[in-house]
Amino acid sequence: MIVDGDEVGNDIDEHFDAVVIGSGAGGAVVAKELAEGGMRVAIIEDGAYHKLSSHTDLPYEALGRLYRDKGFTTTLGKPAIPIPMGRALGGTTVINSGTCFRTPKSVLAHWNNDLDLKSLTEESFSAIFDRVEKEINVSEADFSVMSRANTIFHEILTKKGVAGHPLKRNIRGCEGCGFCCYGCPTGAKQSMDVSYLPKAFIHGAKAYVNCTFEQFIIENNRVTGIQANFHRYAGANNGHTLRIKAPRVIMAAGTFHTPQLLRDCGVAVENRNLGRNLTLHPATKVFARFDEEIRGWEGTPQAYYSEVLKDQGITLEGIFVPPDIAAMTVPFVGRRLNEFMREYKHMATFGFLISDSSSGRVMKLPLLGTTVLYNLNKADVEKFRKGVAYLARVFLEGGATKVYTLLHGYPEFSTLADVERLENGPLKAEDIDCMAFHPLGSCRMGSTAETGVVGDDFRVYGWEGLYICDGSVIPSPLGVNPQVTIMAFATRLAYQMLGKRLTQ
Ligand SMILES: Cc1cc2nc3c(=O)[nH]c(=O)nc-3n(C[C@H](O)[C@H](O)[C@H](O)COP(=O)(O)OP(=O)(O)OC[C@H]3O[C@@H](n4cnc5c(N)ncnc54)[C@H](O)[C@@H]3O)c2cc1C
Ligand code: SF4
Repeated sequence: MIVDGDEVGNDIDEHFDAVVIGSGAGGAVVAKELAEGGMRVAIIEDGAYHKLSSHTDLPYEALGRLYRDKGFTTTLGKPAIPIPMGRALGGTTVINSGTCFRTPKSVLAHWNNDLDLKSLTEESFSAIFDRVEKEINVSEADFSVMSRANTIFHEILTKKGVAGHPLKRNIRGCEGCGFCCYGCPTGAKQSMDVSYLPKAFIHGAKAYVNCTFEQFIIENNRVTGIQANFHRYAGANNGHTLRIKAPRVIMAAGTFHTPQLLRDCGVAVENRNLGRNLTLHPATKVFARFDEEIRGWEGTPQAYYSEVLKDQGITLEGIFVPPDIAAMTVPFVGRRLNEFMREYKHMATFGFLISDSSSGRVMKLPLLGTTVLYNLNKADVEKFRKGVAYLARVFLEGGATKVYTLLHGYPEFSTLADVERLENGPLKAEDIDCMAFHPLGSCRMGSTAETGVVGDDFRVYGWEGLYICDGSVIPSPLGVNPQVTIMAFATRLAYQMLGKRLTQ
């Protein structure tokens, strides 16, 4: 059942077994598993519920409806990095690309051996991954519906003898319309609003949308409930409040918001990890012009990948941005922008994300409010140099007439000698135009309160009744897209709360 703050005309007081703040990859999964396990569950979501039929075919319009701050959230630092995130029932999964990776074994081993998180073993996750993948129907992308930007890259890699593979995605009957990041109009993408949440509702969960968490109800060091404000769809407070008493409060508002909400409520403020250890998986792409018409916006934009640079902390993944969004985000203006966009149908793109060793901080600054501070360190700058140079070489060797990069000082390459200039030339953090889609770690899990905000039982150190279960608890960067890891953590928390074990 969904209660919409846009329509609520009175204050509401309720009791539940568990209340979950946020309905994305973390919140929706823990809510559904708890509801299915017999608990009475409430979900509080700041964003609205958008029916499939309401998804627009204008990407620019979707930014206003489904993205927080119309997609203009960004970091402060060198370079400034846009971090888009979702604000809707289903969270960022509504606007993500649908790529699915299990947590890499090397990362699990790192948590287990180096971070002393002894319970996070590969064996303990195996049945959990199976369950998550079944719920969201993880299956391999089909070449027949991939964007040409992906298949041309595949053809070139194959000729070079380099391995690449179709990505695994959470899809059921993907038609390749290319709108994954603007709300899948067919329901093929198994985002939380079409997979986990409907099941949560069948099992009696109640979601309050257009409803913003504001405060915990606290008795000594125990959180016993929450208070939230209803608001109109357009954003104005409607003057009515929601008060829920529950013995379990689970924060899943995302890596950006969870630490700041805790801080605003005066909770865990003494823990020096709160808001720190933030990693982003910064990402960029190159454009490659071919004589052939690519029309990369037709077909699934992110459907192919290669691990050829994995050892260097770089994962290559397909990407294509529709023309109206591209025109806003490429670093060109005037006649140059005009020329670039006229050629856009001939452009292929391919991108990569880096496993970052840089780390940042979520904090509140006067005048700016909640802010992310993050500087790219030298080691990560070098990953960008390697990734861009590699993609540029692949495309030029594969027949591209020109390659355009998002690195200042190296705007376009026509020959391999141009690529060598990048390989040997100066490059600073502020020269890199990148984005980030995977903020993680700002309330990371640690084996003690000295190293983390939550323990491996997801409970906030020093507090009873309060748990965190979203991207913020992931203990280190993954080097791959994180939604399946976050969903696996959420499943783990739910089973722990239900006192059950998932076995194969
Ligand atoms: C464009 C894009 C593409 C991506 N593609 C992929 C991909 O292909 N594969 C992948 O694995 N990952 C991808 N990601 C990342 C992935 O979607 C996120 O890592 C994941 O959804 C994070 O889950 P979460 O539960 O931490 O937060 P979210 O999914 O962001 O959910 C948090 C929710 O909390 C709500 N909230 C915040 N504050 C409050 C408040 N005060 N009160 C109530 N509610 C609140 C928010 O509105 C939001 O709905 C992508 C991200 C983006 C932006
Ligand atoms: S390509 Fe289209 S149908 Fe397929 S998941 Fe993306 S939005 Fe949905």
